[in-house]
Amino acid sequence: MHQGSCLCGSVKYSIDDNLQFVVNCHCQFCSKAHGAAFTTLLMMPFNKLEFIEGQTLLASYEVETLNSLRVFCSRCGTRLYNHSPSKGMISLVVATLDTDAKLRPLANINVGSKCSWYSIADELPQFSSTPSAAEFGQLRASALQC
Ligand SMILES: [Zn+2]
Ligand SMILES: [Zn+2]
Repeated sequence: MHQGSCLCGSVKYSIDDNLQFVVNCHCQFCSKAHGAAFTTLLMMPFNKLEFIEGQTLLASYEVETLNSLRVFCSRCGTRLYNHSPSKGMISLVVATLDTDAKLRPLANINVGSKCSWYSIADELPQFSSTPSAAEFGQLRASALQC
């Protein structure tokens, strides 16, 4: 079990996840939403996320082209996760975790739309868009070997 919260502390959540599917997402939506070159995200099932406090403060913005909701705290604006209801998955913003999480990103994804002023300086595999489930499986398998 791991716990996290927003900047103001009103929203608190816990997740039951092994923290394996972590990526650095360079898509334009993450860049805009965070005002950052990329966002480190944990891909996990929505039903493994549980709210401890502040669920009624959650607000969301739908990105229609992605068919996904970007969910944030309406009090402080911290973005907590993206939710794709049709897939039953979320991508949780790793920086909102409070517990000392032993995790590391597996890849840089959506580098096809990364900010031109940012140069990726790590050796992680790069995907121009979002990897398929099979590609994620391979990434996971290779990460477990090291
Ligand atoms: Zn907040
Ligand atoms: Zn993104």
